[in-house]
Amino acid sequence: MTKTAFDVCVSGSGAVAMSLALALSADGWHVAWAKAPESGQPTKPDVRTYALNARAIKLLERLRVWPALKASSAAVLEMDIRGDEGGAVSFSAWQQCVPELAWIVDAAELERLLGEAMRFAPKVEIVPPVTVHGAPVDARLLAICEGKFSGTRASLGVSFARQEYGHWGVAARLKATQPHHGVARQWFRSPDILALLPFNQPDPVASYGLVWSAPQARAEHLLALSPEAFEQELQDAILQSDASAPAKVGQLSLTSPVAAWPLALAQASRWTGPGWVLLGDAAHLVHPLAGQGLNLGLADVDTLVAVLKQARMDEPWRSPGDERTLRRYARQREWPTKAMAGLTDGLLHLFADQRSPVRDLRNAGMSMVQRLGPVKNWLIGRALDT
Ligand SMILES: Cc1cc2nc3c(=O)[nH]c(=O)nc-3n(C[C@H](O)[C@H](O)[C@H](O)COP(=O)(O)OP(=O)(O)OC[C@H]3O[C@@H](n4cnc5c(N)ncnc54)[C@H](O)[C@@H]3O)c2cc1C
Repeated sequence: MTKTAFDVCVSGSGAVAMSLALALSADGWHVAWAKAPESGQPTKPDVRTYALNARAIKLLERLRVWPALKASSAAVLEMDIRGDEGGAVSFSAWQQCVPELAWIVDAAELERLLGEAMRFAPKVEIVPPVTVHGAPVDARLLAICEGKFSGTRASLGVSFARQEYGHWGVAARLKATQPHHGVARQWFRSPDILALLPFNQPDPVASYGLVWSAPQARAEHLLALSPEAFEQELQDAILQSDASAPAKVGQLSLTSPVAAWPLALAQASRWTGPGWVLLGDAAHLVHPLAGQGLNLGLADVDTLVAVLKQARMDEPWRSPGDERTLRRYARQREWPTKAMAGLTDGLLHLFADQRSPVRDLRNAGMSMVQRLGPVKNWLIGRALDT
């Protein structure tokens, strides 16, 4: 009988694939990393900043990536969320009795540091990518972390019906003339949603990551503007949404190019099968309005690693690719993911509706959440620990 060469083959090249490979190797599994070959072409730097929650940070700490990443990250101490007719909700770290609500990290730096850590990971071998003929090596489990366009998911016959929002997420980095004091600001403007995430580069106390979700035509218009015209349009949008904001934020100027991503909602029809499992955007796609996509993906990693570790202790005869074990992972992850997808999708539709009774209701609803401590605490608890 031939011995299986690897315990797990991790397919994918993003943050979820690398975190999984690192976490599995730290637990002693023999891992093959099937990453995409380098294109050889210079790639544009990722201008996104990600809001990462406490659970994601804990995982990055375990992977020993967090100390270096923290140096280029900023803590969110307060969130100020505004509706389009005076509705407002705010959360603060001290009210929640936590040191911070989230961390804003540099997307490109996160991937770079995970890539660095992979070079020193014991028991990880780089192998060629998965093809239509299957995995490049003999492994007991194939972990598919190939992102939203996963070809391996498609070749397994798993459907991933994408519901296009018709919106693009426009992202950039900004510098302000006023310090941010760790406050993340978000305006539900109907139909667009604008977020300024406190960041620490280039100015340690007055930088922001911008995420502006806008209908495609508006996003294309924004992308075509000169930097000066973009800054003016952004400033105007903030003023229209909240007359008090410009004084708090100050004058904003771009410190990066502007880039955009088409946004969609999707969930894989199956997350596991005999010898395979889906994680991250390959399993689920959510709107970035709540900044949860990668948090969900890293929670998938955390859960799968824990399930495999427990199964190895309780049922050492069982393969990590055993479907019964993998179903435990899917059961733990499907509900929180569906809940987050439903919440972001619901909010998006609620704020897309232009009718005035709906507008009044949603703003009244926001103010009610602000007054109802337990509801507010429940919502923030979900966001801190997806
Ligand atoms: C504007 C915007 C803002 C966002 N903000 C946040 C935020 O604040 N917080 C948050 O948590 N999330 C955020 N997200 C979501 C986050 O970007 C994604 O959830 C996250 O990148 C998913 O990581 P992943 O590794 O699963 O997939 P990806 O990042 O897509 O990585 C998958 C990689 O695998 C590669 N690949 C594909 N096929 C193969 C193959 N066969 N073999 C090898 N490699 C392959 C792909 O090319 C890709 O490089 C945001 C998204 C957008 C668009």
